[in-house]
Amino acid sequence: MTLIVEATEPVLVDIAGDERKFPVRHVYCIGRNYVDHAKEMGLTPESDPKKNPPFFFMKYADTIVPTGSTIVYPLGTENYHWELELAVAIGKEGVKIPASQAKEYILAYGVGFDMTRRDLQQGAKDKGRPWDTGKNVVQSAPVAPLHLVSEVGHIEDARIWLEVNGEVKQDSNVSDMIWDTYEIIEAVSNLYRLYPGDLILTGTPAGVGACVPGDHLVGHVDGLTSIDITIGDRES
Ligand code: MN
Repeated sequence: MTLIVEATEPVLVDIAGDERKFPVRHVYCIGRNYVDHAKEMGLTPESDPKKNPPFFFMKYADTIVPTGSTIVYPLGTENYHWELELAVAIGKEGVKIPASQAKEYILAYGVGFDMTRRDLQQGAKDKGRPWDTGKNVVQSAPVAPLHLVSEVGHIEDARIWLEVNGEVKQDSNVSDMIWDTYEIIEAVSNLYRLYPGDLILTGTPAGVGACVPGDHLVGHVDGLTSIDITIGDRES
């Protein structure tokens, strides 16, 4: 067999303390999953996340880049935002997974970003259009090395915080998520069959903001390897 164009390489995420890599298949992201962030994004009674089921969007697997990367400031935006998030790596296939059984499907946890062209996302919201151009953006999902559940257990109560140029901009605890990791897995798997290699970004706390070329972002979740990225030049 000869390929008519070049095939893309698989997207691989490092595993802390392990030679093996995690091959990424799908990237699912949840919207509005911390109350304070929902408020800063303009909470209305109709959009109150506690009164509505969780909702999702996706990114291409190849939006993932490793820690230490300099990522491009992407095309088409003047308001590129950081969103620091806990990432959950799925290790087992399943569908309609009850939250009570979700732990069995989690292979590892990591720290990641859901970088967002906020102006395009907001424009899409205002017009009732899809979020894809705001969210599914080149190099928009930096992910640090993953930590296996067998090594660190489940991350349920851990500080999550972001420093931008040394100043703390986001500071919360993953226990403040509206829908916890297990409820997220239940909800996603009611819509999609989850596969080994799927990665879920679990939402961001308050304190999102716009970065500019040259900014240095360091994100932490207690117990996990931090993620460290630099905002590079505008894509051209
Ligand atoms: Mn997000």
